Amino acid sequence: MKLMFLGPPGAGKGTQAVVLAERFGVPHISTGDMLREQIKSGTALGQKAKAFIEEGQLVPDDVIIGMIKQRIAEPDAQRGFILDGFPRTRKQAETLEGLTSLDAVFNIDSRDDQIVGRITGRRVCQECGAVYQASRLGGSTTCPKCEGALYVRADDNEETIRERLSVYKKSTQPLIAYYTERGILKNIADEGSIDDITQNILSVLDAMNDYA
Ligand code: ADP
Repeated sequence: MKLMFLGPPGAGKGTQAVVLAERFGVPHISTGDMLREQIKSGTALGQKAKAFIEEGQLVPDDVIIGMIKQRIAEPDAQRGFILDGFPRTRKQAETLEGLTSLDAVFNIDSRDDQIVGRITGRRVCQECGAVYQASRLGGSTTCPKCEGALYVRADDNEETIRERLSVYKKSTQPLIAYYTERGILKNIADEGSIDDITQNILSVLDAMNDYA
C-alpha cells in the first residue's frame, strides 16, 4: 500500500496520513516532520532547512530527495508507506517515480478560508509531534496523549501561511494534473469531520480494491 497525500498546507494531510498509517500498519512519512526533527537535533541538514521553512519557502529539491531516498529504503517502508508533504514539486515527483510507484494520490481539496483559521489554531506536541486544534484543548497547554508541551510552529503565522499558500499554488498544485494523467489521483472534499473524511478515503480505497 503506497499512498500519498496532496493538498494545500493545513488541509489535514498529516491528520489523515496518521490514521491510515495506523490502520494499514505502514509508516507515515512526513518530510515536514523529518525536517523539524533535523532542526531540533541541530544537524547540518536542519540548519540548512530552517530559514526556508521559516520564510514559507520550499527546502531545495536535492536536500529533500536525499532525505526521502534514505527513508523509503528503510526496512519498515518495504511493505508500503503513507507519504505526506512529498512530493511537492515536479522534480520530486519524477524522482519518486524512478524509485517506486504509488497506488493512489489523495488530493484534499480545501479552500483558502478553511486553511488560514485551521493553521493559526494549530498546536503541536514538542515530544510526540501530535497535532491539535487549540479550540478543542479546553485551554490546556500540554499534549493529551503524552503530556509534552504544546507549541505553535514558527511557520504557522498569518504572513508565512499566505506565502506557503502561494508557493503551494505555483509549485505543488500542478502535481494534481501530473497524477491525474497517471490515472491515480483521487479527489477528497474537505467537508465534514475528520472521521467523515477518513471514511471517504476508505471508500475510495475499497472501490479500488473491487476493481483491482
Ligand atoms: P504544511 O503541510 O502545513 O505546509 P509541512 O510540515 O508538510 O507543513 O511542511 C512544512 C515546511 O517544510 C514547508 O513549508 C517547506 O518549507 C518544508 N517542506 C516539507 N516538505 C517539503 C518538500 N517535499 N519539499 C520542499 N520543502 C518541504
